[in-house]
Amino acid sequence: MPLISKVLIANRGEIALRVLRACKELGIATVAVHSTADADAMHVRLADESVCIGPPPSRDSYLNIHQIVAACEITGADAVHPGYGFLSENAKFADILDAHGITFIGPTADHIRIMGDKITAKETAKALGIPVVPGSTGEVRPENALEIAREIGFPVLIKATAGGGGRGMKVARNEDEVEEAVSTARSEAAAAFGNDAVYMEKYLGKPRHIEIQVVGDGEGNAIHLGERDCSLQRRHQKVWEEANSPALNVEQRMKIGEICADAMRKLKYRGAGTVEFLYENGEFYFIEMNTRLQVEHPITEAITGIDLVHEQIRVASGAGLSVTQDEIVFQGHAIECRINAEDPRTFVPSPGTITHFHAPGGLGVRVDSGAYQGYRIPPYYDSLIGKLIVHGRTRVECMMRLRRVLDEFVIDGIKTTLPLFQDLINNQDIANGDYDIHWLENYLAQPAE
Ligand code: ADP
Repeated sequence: MPLISKVLIANRGEIALRVLRACKELGIATVAVHSTADADAMHVRLADESVCIGPPPSRDSYLNIHQIVAACEITGADAVHPGYGFLSENAKFADILDAHGITFIGPTADHIRIMGDKITAKETAKALGIPVVPGSTGEVRPENALEIAREIGFPVLIKATAGGGGRGMKVARNEDEVEEAVSTARSEAAAAFGNDAVYMEKYLGKPRHIEIQVVGDGEGNAIHLGERDCSLQRRHQKVWEEANSPALNVEQRMKIGEICADAMRKLKYRGAGTVEFLYENGEFYFIEMNTRLQVEHPITEAITGIDLVHEQIRVASGAGLSVTQDEIVFQGHAIECRINAEDPRTFVPSPGTITHFHAPGGLGVRVDSGAYQGYRIPPYYDSLIGKLIVHGRTRVECMMRLRRVLDEFVIDGIKTTLPLFQDLINNQDIANGDYDIHWLENYLAQPAE
Protein backbone atom coordinates (compact mmCIF):
# COMPACT_ATOMS: atom_id res chain seq x y z
CA MET A 1 0.00 0.00 0.00
CA PRO A 2 2.21 2.81 -1.20
CA LEU A 3 -0.21 5.72 -0.76
CA ILE A 4 0.19 6.15 3.00
CA SER A 5 3.64 6.09 4.57
CA LYS A 6 3.23 7.81 7.93
CA VAL A 7 0.10 8.01 10.07
CA LEU A 8 -0.45 10.57 12.80
CA ILE A 9 -2.80 9.16 15.44
CA ALA A 10 -4.98 12.00 16.71
CA ASN A 11 -6.09 10.27 19.88
CA ARG A 12 -4.92 8.78 23.18
CA GLY A 13 -5.37 5.74 25.41
CA GLU A 14 -6.23 2.27 24.24
CA ILE A 15 -7.50 3.34 20.81
CA ALA A 16 -4.25 5.17 19.97
CA LEU A 17 -2.43 1.96 20.80
CA ARG A 18 -4.89 -0.10 18.77
CA VAL A 19 -4.34 2.04 15.66
CA LEU A 20 -0.58 2.08 16.19
CA ARG A 21 -0.49 -1.72 16.22
CA ALA A 22 -2.32 -1.90 12.89
CA CYS A 23 0.07 0.64 11.33
CA LYS A 24 3.11 -1.32 12.53
CA GLU A 25 1.73 -4.49 11.00
CA LEU A 26 1.29 -2.71 7.68
CA GLY A 27 4.81 -1.25 7.81
CA ILE A 28 3.52 2.30 8.18
CA ALA A 29 5.44 4.77 10.38
CA THR A 30 3.53 6.26 13.32
CA VAL A 31 3.35 9.63 15.02
CA ALA A 32 1.73 9.95 18.45
CA VAL A 33 0.37 13.26 19.68
CA HIS A 34 -0.18 13.91 23.36
CA SER A 35 -1.09 16.53 25.93
CA THR A 36 1.34 17.37 28.71
CA ALA A 37 -0.72 15.07 30.97
CA ASP A 38 -0.01 12.09 28.67
CA ALA A 39 3.75 12.44 28.20
CA ASP A 40 4.35 9.00 29.74
CA ALA A 41 1.42 7.23 28.09
CA MET A 42 1.94 3.90 26.35
CA HIS A 43 0.90 5.17 22.90
CA VAL A 44 3.63 7.80 23.13
CA ARG A 45 6.23 5.22 24.14
CA LEU A 46 5.42 2.84 21.32
CA ALA A 47 5.12 5.33 18.46
CA ASP A 48 8.05 6.04 16.14
CA GLU A 49 7.76 9.77 16.86
CA SER A 50 5.69 11.89 19.20
CA VAL A 51 4.65 15.52 19.41
CA CYS A 52 3.27 17.36 22.45
CA ILE A 53 0.25 19.33 21.23
CA GLY A 54 -0.80 21.23 24.32
CA PRO A 55 -1.98 21.33 27.93
CA PRO A 56 -4.30 18.71 29.51
CA PRO A 57 -7.78 20.07 28.60
CA SER A 58 -8.91 18.30 25.40
CA ARG A 59 -9.99 21.52 23.69
CA ASP A 60 -6.38 22.75 23.93
CA SER A 61 -4.78 19.50 22.79
CA TYR A 62 -6.69 16.51 21.32
CA LEU A 63 -9.37 18.83 19.89
CA ASN A 64 -6.93 21.50 18.72
CA ILE A 65 -7.05 21.19 14.93
CA HIS A 66 -4.28 23.73 14.28
CA GLN A 67 -1.85 21.94 16.55
CA ILE A 68 -2.63 18.59 14.98
CA VAL A 69 -2.18 19.88 11.43
CA ALA A 70 1.09 21.54 12.52
CA ALA A 71 2.23 18.20 13.99
CA CYS A 72 1.53 16.56 10.61
CA GLU A 73 3.58 19.20 8.82
CA ILE A 74 6.49 18.94 11.25
CA THR A 75 6.67 15.16 11.12
CA GLY A 76 5.71 14.71 7.47
CA ALA A 77 2.71 12.51 8.32
CA ASP A 78 0.62 12.01 5.18
CA ALA A 79 -2.47 10.62 6.92
CA VAL A 80 -4.38 11.00 10.18
CA HIS A 81 -6.33 8.33 12.03
CA PRO A 82 -8.77 10.02 14.43
CA GLY A 83 -9.75 6.95 16.52
CA TYR A 84 -13.17 7.47 18.17
CA GLY A 85 -14.43 10.51 20.06
CA PHE A 86 -12.38 13.74 19.82
CA LEU A 87 -12.19 14.79 16.13
CA SER A 88 -13.36 11.52 14.61
CA GLU A 89 -16.76 12.85 13.51
CA ASN A 90 -15.71 16.44 12.87
CA ALA A 91 -16.39 17.27 9.21
CA LYS A 92 -14.44 20.53 9.43
CA PHE A 93 -11.35 18.58 10.51
CA ALA A 94 -11.73 16.25 7.53
CA ASP A 95 -12.04 19.30 5.23
CA ILE A 96 -8.97 20.99 6.69
CA LEU A 97 -6.84 17.87 6.32
CA ASP A 98 -8.04 17.55 2.75
CA ALA A 99 -7.04 21.16 2.05
CA HIS A 100 -3.55 20.35 3.37
CA GLY A 101 -3.25 17.24 1.20
CA ILE A 102 -3.34 14.96 4.25
CA THR A 103 -5.46 11.80 4.05
CA PHE A 104 -8.21 11.54 6.66
CA ILE A 105 -8.62 7.85 7.55
CA GLY A 106 -12.39 7.96 7.59
CA PRO A 107 -15.36 8.89 5.43
CA THR A 108 -15.78 12.02 3.32
CA ALA A 109 -16.63 15.24 5.14
CA ASP A 110 -20.03 15.19 3.39
CA HIS A 111 -20.91 11.78 4.77
CA ILE A 112 -19.83 12.85 8.26
CA ARG A 113 -22.11 15.88 7.96
CA ILE A 114 -25.11 13.92 6.71
CA MET A 115 -24.90 11.40 9.54
CA GLY A 116 -24.04 14.03 12.16
CA ASP A 117 -27.45 15.68 11.80
CA LYS A 118 -30.04 13.30 13.16
CA ILE A 119 -32.93 14.39 10.94
CA THR A 120 -30.85 14.29 7.75
CA ALA A 121 -29.34 10.97 8.85
CA LYS A 122 -32.76 9.45 9.35
CA GLU A 123 -34.07 10.77 6.04
CA THR A 124 -30.98 9.49 4.26
CA ALA A 125 -31.23 6.08 5.92
CA LYS A 126 -34.89 5.80 4.95
CA ALA A 127 -34.16 6.78 1.34
CA LEU A 128 -31.44 4.11 1.24
CA GLY A 129 -33.89 1.41 2.31
CA ILE A 130 -32.95 1.14 5.99
CA PRO A 131 -35.93 0.67 8.38
CA VAL A 132 -36.34 3.69 10.68
CA VAL A 133 -38.36 4.44 13.83
CA PRO A 134 -41.75 5.89 12.88
CA GLY A 135 -41.72 9.59 13.63
CA SER A 136 -41.84 13.19 12.47
CA THR A 137 -40.44 13.90 9.03
CA GLY A 138 -38.73 17.10 10.10
CA GLU A 139 -38.32 19.46 13.00
CA VAL A 140 -41.05 19.50 15.62
CA ARG A 141 -42.20 22.88 16.91
CA PRO A 142 -44.45 23.63 19.89
CA GLU A 143 -47.33 24.54 17.48
CA ASN A 144 -47.35 21.22 15.62
CA ALA A 145 -46.10 18.88 18.37
CA LEU A 146 -49.45 17.59 19.60
CA GLU A 147 -50.72 16.81 16.12
CA ILE A 148 -47.53 14.93 15.23
CA ALA A 149 -47.62 13.01 18.51
CA ARG A 150 -51.22 11.90 17.83
CA GLU A 151 -50.24 10.68 14.39
CA ILE A 152 -47.29 8.66 15.72
CA GLY A 153 -49.23 7.32 18.71
CA PHE A 154 -48.22 7.41 22.38
CA PRO A 155 -45.76 7.15 24.01
CA VAL A 156 -43.47 9.39 21.96
CA LEU A 157 -39.85 10.45 22.41
CA ILE A 158 -38.65 14.00 21.73
CA LYS A 159 -35.00 14.06 20.63
CA ALA A 160 -32.47 16.76 19.81
CA THR A 161 -31.50 17.06 16.14
CA ALA A 162 -27.91 17.77 17.15
CA GLY A 163 -28.11 15.10 19.89
CA GLY A 164 -25.40 12.92 21.31
CA GLY A 165 -24.73 10.92 24.43
CA GLY A 166 -28.43 10.46 25.06
CA ARG A 167 -28.88 14.08 26.15
CA GLY A 168 -31.91 16.22 25.38
CA MET A 169 -34.38 13.32 25.12
CA LYS A 170 -37.84 13.43 26.74
CA VAL A 171 -40.69 10.93 26.77
CA ALA A 172 -44.32 12.06 26.52
CA ARG A 173 -46.68 9.26 27.59
CA ASN A 174 -49.93 11.05 26.77
CA GLU A 175 -51.33 14.27 25.29
CA ASP A 176 -50.96 16.21 28.55
CA GLU A 177 -47.21 15.61 28.62
CA VAL A 178 -46.40 16.77 25.08
CA GLU A 179 -46.09 20.51 25.62
CA GLU A 180 -43.80 20.25 28.59
CA ALA A 181 -41.69 17.46 27.07
CA VAL A 182 -41.11 19.50 23.91
CA SER A 183 -40.18 22.67 25.75
CA THR A 184 -37.83 20.87 28.17
CA ALA A 185 -36.18 18.95 25.33
CA ARG A 186 -35.70 22.20 23.39
CA SER A 187 -34.11 24.05 26.27
CA GLU A 188 -31.87 21.08 27.15
CA ALA A 189 -30.83 20.79 23.51
CA ALA A 190 -30.07 24.52 23.32
CA ALA A 191 -27.95 24.30 26.46
CA ALA A 192 -26.10 21.12 25.46
CA PHE A 193 -25.64 21.62 21.71
CA GLY A 194 -26.35 25.30 21.02
CA ASN A 195 -29.22 24.19 18.78
CA ASP A 196 -32.79 23.83 20.05
CA ALA A 197 -34.17 21.86 17.09
CA VAL A 198 -35.98 18.68 18.12
CA TYR A 199 -37.84 15.87 16.38
CA MET A 200 -40.22 13.17 17.50
CA GLU A 201 -40.24 9.38 17.37
CA LYS A 202 -42.35 6.49 18.56
CA TYR A 203 -40.98 5.51 21.98
CA LEU A 204 -40.02 1.85 22.07
CA GLY A 205 -40.59 0.26 25.48
CA LYS A 206 -38.18 -2.66 25.76
CA PRO A 207 -35.84 -2.67 22.78
CA ARG A 208 -32.39 -4.15 22.40
CA HIS A 209 -29.57 -2.07 20.94
CA ILE A 210 -28.22 -3.93 17.91
CA GLU A 211 -25.73 -2.36 15.52
CA ILE A 212 -24.31 -3.44 12.18
CA GLN A 213 -20.64 -3.00 11.28
CA VAL A 214 -20.07 -1.88 7.70
CA VAL A 215 -17.00 -1.01 5.65
CA GLY A 216 -17.06 0.66 2.24
CA ASP A 217 -14.35 1.48 -0.27
CA GLY A 218 -15.85 4.78 -1.48
CA GLU A 219 -16.30 3.35 -4.97
CA GLY A 220 -19.59 1.57 -4.39
CA ASN A 221 -18.31 -1.66 -2.84
CA ALA A 222 -19.30 -2.34 0.76
CA ILE A 223 -19.51 -5.27 3.15
CA HIS A 224 -21.17 -5.90 6.49
CA LEU A 225 -19.51 -7.77 9.32
CA GLY A 226 -22.62 -8.77 11.22
CA GLU A 227 -24.00 -7.24 14.36
CA ARG A 228 -23.08 -6.36 17.92
CA ASP A 229 -25.58 -6.39 20.75
CA CYS A 230 -24.87 -3.42 23.02
CA SER A 231 -28.06 -3.47 25.06
CA LEU A 232 -26.24 -3.53 28.41
CA GLN A 233 -25.92 0.20 28.98
CA ARG A 234 -25.86 2.67 31.82
CA ARG A 235 -26.93 6.23 31.03
CA HIS A 236 -26.67 5.38 27.33
CA GLN A 237 -23.06 4.31 27.83
CA LYS A 238 -22.32 0.79 26.67
CA VAL A 239 -20.85 -1.47 29.34
CA TRP A 240 -20.81 -4.99 27.88
CA GLU A 241 -21.13 -5.88 24.20
CA GLU A 242 -21.48 -9.16 22.39
CA ALA A 243 -21.27 -10.54 18.89
CA ASN A 244 -23.39 -12.15 17.73
CA SER A 245 -26.53 -10.93 19.42
CA PRO A 246 -28.23 -13.63 21.52
CA ALA A 247 -31.50 -12.37 19.98
CA LEU A 248 -30.83 -12.94 16.26
CA ASN A 249 -30.62 -16.00 14.08
CA VAL A 250 -28.48 -16.33 10.94
CA GLU A 251 -31.27 -15.31 8.54
CA GLN A 252 -32.09 -12.16 10.53
CA ARG A 253 -28.38 -11.28 10.74
CA MET A 254 -27.76 -11.68 7.03
CA LYS A 255 -30.95 -9.84 6.10
CA ILE A 256 -30.32 -6.68 8.14
CA GLY A 257 -26.59 -6.85 7.35
CA GLU A 258 -27.30 -6.97 3.63
CA ILE A 259 -29.74 -4.04 3.89
CA CYS A 260 -26.99 -1.95 5.52
CA ALA A 261 -24.24 -3.04 3.13
CA ASP A 262 -26.51 -2.28 0.19
CA ALA A 263 -27.26 1.18 1.60
CA MET A 264 -23.52 1.84 1.92
CA ARG A 265 -22.98 0.76 -1.70
CA LYS A 266 -25.62 3.24 -2.88
CA LEU A 267 -24.09 5.97 -0.73
CA LYS A 268 -20.57 5.11 -1.97
CA TYR A 269 -19.56 5.17 1.67
CA ARG A 270 -15.82 5.05 2.42
CA GLY A 271 -14.36 3.63 5.61
CA ALA A 272 -15.73 1.83 8.65
CA GLY A 273 -19.14 2.75 9.99
CA THR A 274 -21.80 1.47 12.32
CA VAL A 275 -25.51 1.55 11.66
CA GLU A 276 -27.29 1.54 15.02
CA PHE A 277 -30.75 0.13 15.56
CA LEU A 278 -33.22 -0.46 18.30
CA TYR A 279 -34.68 -3.93 17.92
CA GLU A 280 -38.07 -4.92 19.27
CA ASN A 281 -40.54 -7.71 18.39
CA GLY A 282 -38.46 -8.83 15.44
CA GLU A 283 -38.26 -5.34 13.88
CA PHE A 284 -35.22 -3.09 13.39
CA TYR A 285 -35.49 0.67 13.83
CA PHE A 286 -32.57 2.84 12.71
CA ILE A 287 -31.49 5.40 15.33
CA GLU A 288 -28.17 6.69 14.03
CA MET A 289 -25.01 5.95 12.09
CA ASN A 290 -21.54 6.46 13.52
CA THR A 291 -19.04 7.32 10.81
CA ARG A 292 -15.97 6.01 12.63
CA LEU A 293 -14.44 3.04 14.40
CA GLN A 294 -16.37 2.14 17.57
CA VAL A 295 -15.03 1.22 20.99
CA GLU A 296 -16.57 -2.25 20.69
CA HIS A 297 -15.15 -3.08 17.24
CA PRO A 298 -12.84 -5.88 18.59
CA ILE A 299 -15.72 -8.31 19.14
CA THR A 300 -16.47 -8.10 15.43
CA GLU A 301 -12.78 -8.68 14.71
CA ALA A 302 -12.85 -11.71 17.02
CA ILE A 303 -15.69 -13.45 15.20
CA THR A 304 -14.62 -12.53 11.65
CA GLY A 305 -10.81 -12.47 11.94
CA ILE A 306 -10.82 -9.20 10.00
CA ASP A 307 -8.71 -6.29 11.27
CA LEU A 308 -10.98 -3.27 10.91
CA VAL A 309 -8.15 -0.74 11.19
CA HIS A 310 -6.29 -2.49 8.37
CA GLU A 311 -9.45 -2.15 6.27
CA GLN A 312 -9.81 1.53 7.20
CA ILE A 313 -6.23 2.22 6.12
CA ARG A 314 -6.64 0.20 2.93
CA VAL A 315 -9.75 2.02 1.76
CA ALA A 316 -8.39 5.43 2.76
CA SER A 317 -5.30 4.79 0.64
CA GLY A 318 -7.34 3.58 -2.32
CA ALA A 319 -6.25 -0.06 -2.02
CA GLY A 320 -9.83 -1.28 -1.62
CA LEU A 321 -11.30 -3.85 0.73
CA SER A 322 -9.29 -7.00 1.43
CA VAL A 323 -12.39 -9.25 1.42
CA THR A 324 -15.67 -9.69 -0.38
CA GLN A 325 -18.93 -10.43 1.40
CA ASP A 326 -18.89 -14.13 0.42
CA GLU A 327 -15.48 -14.61 2.01
CA ILE A 328 -16.62 -13.48 5.44
CA VAL A 329 -17.17 -16.30 7.91
CA PHE A 330 -18.67 -15.68 11.35
CA GLN A 331 -17.02 -17.92 13.90
CA GLY A 332 -18.05 -18.39 17.50
CA HIS A 333 -19.02 -15.75 20.00
CA ALA A 334 -17.22 -12.76 21.54
CA ILE A 335 -17.89 -10.53 24.53
CA GLU A 336 -16.24 -7.23 25.41
CA CYS A 337 -16.16 -5.75 28.92
CA ARG A 338 -15.30 -2.08 29.18
CA ILE A 339 -12.93 -1.56 32.07
CA ASN A 340 -13.37 1.91 33.48
CA ALA A 341 -11.46 3.55 36.29
CA GLU A 342 -14.71 3.97 38.23
CA ASP A 343 -16.45 2.66 41.30
CA PRO A 344 -18.26 -0.51 40.10
CA ARG A 345 -21.50 0.46 41.81
CA THR A 346 -21.68 4.28 41.76
CA PHE A 347 -19.56 4.82 38.62
CA VAL A 348 -17.79 7.75 40.24
CA PRO A 349 -14.43 8.17 38.40
CA SER A 350 -11.40 6.85 40.25
CA PRO A 351 -8.26 8.35 38.71
CA GLY A 352 -4.92 7.64 40.40
CA THR A 353 -1.87 5.43 40.16
CA ILE A 354 -2.10 1.76 39.21
CA THR A 355 0.06 0.01 41.78
CA HIS A 356 -0.28 -3.47 40.32
CA PHE A 357 -1.41 -4.54 36.86
CA HIS A 358 -1.68 -8.08 35.60
CA ALA A 359 -3.54 -8.75 32.36
CA PRO A 360 -5.01 -12.20 31.74
CA GLY A 361 -3.96 -14.39 28.83
CA GLY A 362 -4.67 -17.68 27.14
CA LEU A 363 -6.66 -18.82 24.13
CA GLY A 364 -9.33 -16.41 22.94
CA VAL A 365 -8.29 -13.53 25.19
CA ARG A 366 -7.47 -9.99 24.05
CA VAL A 367 -6.73 -7.03 26.28
CA ASP A 368 -6.59 -3.60 24.62
CA SER A 369 -5.24 -1.18 27.18
CA GLY A 370 -2.61 1.49 27.59
CA ALA A 371 -2.45 0.82 31.33
CA TYR A 372 0.60 -0.63 33.11
CA GLN A 373 1.98 -0.94 36.62
CA GLY A 374 2.95 2.53 37.86
CA TYR A 375 0.75 4.30 35.29
CA ARG A 376 -0.98 7.38 36.67
CA ILE A 377 -4.44 7.83 35.17
CA PRO A 378 -4.93 11.51 34.49
CA PRO A 379 -8.25 12.97 35.69
CA TYR A 380 -8.93 14.94 32.49
CA TYR A 381 -10.29 12.32 30.13
CA ASP A 382 -12.76 9.50 29.66
CA SER A 383 -12.43 6.82 32.36
CA LEU A 384 -12.07 3.87 29.95
CA ILE A 385 -8.68 2.32 30.75
CA GLY A 386 -8.97 -0.92 28.90
CA LYS A 387 -11.13 -3.44 27.13
CA LEU A 388 -11.27 -7.14 27.75
CA ILE A 389 -12.36 -9.19 24.75
CA VAL A 390 -13.02 -12.90 25.06
CA HIS A 391 -13.79 -15.28 22.23
CA GLY A 392 -15.16 -18.83 22.33
CA ARG A 393 -16.64 -21.32 19.86
CA THR A 394 -20.07 -20.87 21.43
CA ARG A 395 -21.64 -18.31 23.75
CA VAL A 396 -21.44 -20.81 26.61
CA GLU A 397 -17.71 -21.38 26.03
CA CYS A 398 -17.18 -17.63 25.77
CA MET A 399 -18.91 -17.06 29.13
CA MET A 400 -16.92 -19.86 30.79
CA ARG A 401 -13.72 -18.31 29.51
CA LEU A 402 -14.78 -14.84 30.61
CA ARG A 403 -15.37 -16.08 34.15
CA ARG A 404 -11.85 -17.55 34.30
CA VAL A 405 -10.29 -14.44 32.75
CA LEU A 406 -12.03 -12.01 35.13
CA ASP A 407 -10.54 -13.96 38.06
CA GLU A 408 -7.09 -13.59 36.57
CA PHE A 409 -7.23 -9.84 35.88
CA VAL A 410 -5.58 -7.71 38.59
CA ILE A 411 -5.70 -3.92 38.67
CA ASP A 412 -4.78 -2.44 42.06
CA GLY A 413 -4.48 1.11 43.35
CA ILE A 414 -7.68 2.41 41.75
CA LYS A 415 -11.29 1.28 41.57
CA THR A 416 -12.40 -0.37 38.35
CA THR A 417 -15.57 -1.84 36.89
CA LEU A 418 -14.10 -5.38 36.95
CA PRO A 419 -16.24 -6.46 39.97
CA LEU A 420 -19.39 -5.48 38.07
CA PHE A 421 -18.53 -8.00 35.36
CA GLN A 422 -17.90 -10.65 38.00
CA ASP A 423 -21.48 -10.07 39.17
CA LEU A 424 -22.90 -10.08 35.66
CA ILE A 425 -21.21 -13.33 34.66
CA ASN A 426 -23.10 -15.08 37.48
CA ASN A 427 -26.48 -13.62 36.60
CA GLN A 428 -29.16 -15.88 35.14
CA ASP A 429 -30.63 -13.29 32.73
CA ILE A 430 -27.17 -12.62 31.34
CA ALA A 431 -26.51 -16.33 31.04
CA ASN A 432 -29.76 -16.63 29.07
CA GLY A 433 -28.97 -13.57 26.94
CA ASP A 434 -32.30 -12.22 28.14
CA TYR A 435 -31.89 -8.45 28.52
CA ASP A 436 -32.98 -5.17 26.91
CA ILE A 437 -31.59 -1.62 27.07
CA HIS A 438 -33.11 -1.01 30.53
CA TRP A 439 -31.91 -4.24 32.12
CA LEU A 440 -28.61 -2.96 33.52
CA GLU A 441 -30.06 0.19 35.09
CA ASN A 442 -32.80 -1.84 36.74
CA TYR A 443 -30.21 -4.31 37.99
CA LEU A 444 -28.01 -1.53 39.38
CA ALA A 445 -31.01 0.05 41.11
CA GLN A 446 -31.42 -3.09 43.25
CA PRO A 447 -29.56 -3.01 46.55
CA ALA A 448 -26.18 -4.77 46.39
CA GLU A 449 -26.15 -8.21 48.06
P1 ADP B 1 -27.55 9.81 21.13
O1 ADP B 1 -26.87 10.24 19.86
O2 ADP B 1 -27.87 10.95 22.03
O3 ADP B 1 -26.82 8.70 21.81
P2 ADP B 1 -29.51 7.94 20.03
O4 ADP B 1 -30.51 8.27 18.99
O5 ADP B 1 -28.35 7.08 19.62
O6 ADP B 1 -29.00 9.30 20.68
O7 ADP B 1 -30.24 7.27 21.24
C1 ADP B 1 -29.56 6.97 22.43
C2 ADP B 1 -30.34 5.97 23.24
O8 ADP B 1 -31.63 6.49 23.57
C3 ADP B 1 -30.62 4.67 22.53
O9 ADP B 1 -29.54 3.77 22.64
C4 ADP B 1 -31.84 4.19 23.30
O10 ADP B 1 -31.40 3.68 24.55
C5 ADP B 1 -32.60 5.46 23.55
N1 ADP B 1 -33.56 5.74 22.45
C6 ADP B 1 -33.33 6.45 21.32
N2 ADP B 1 -34.43 6.48 20.53
C7 ADP B 1 -35.38 5.77 21.17
C8 ADP B 1 -36.75 5.43 20.86
N3 ADP B 1 -37.36 5.84 19.76
N4 ADP B 1 -37.43 4.68 21.77
C9 ADP B 1 -36.82 4.25 22.91
N5 ADP B 1 -35.56 4.54 23.27
C10 ADP B 1 -34.83 5.29 22.41
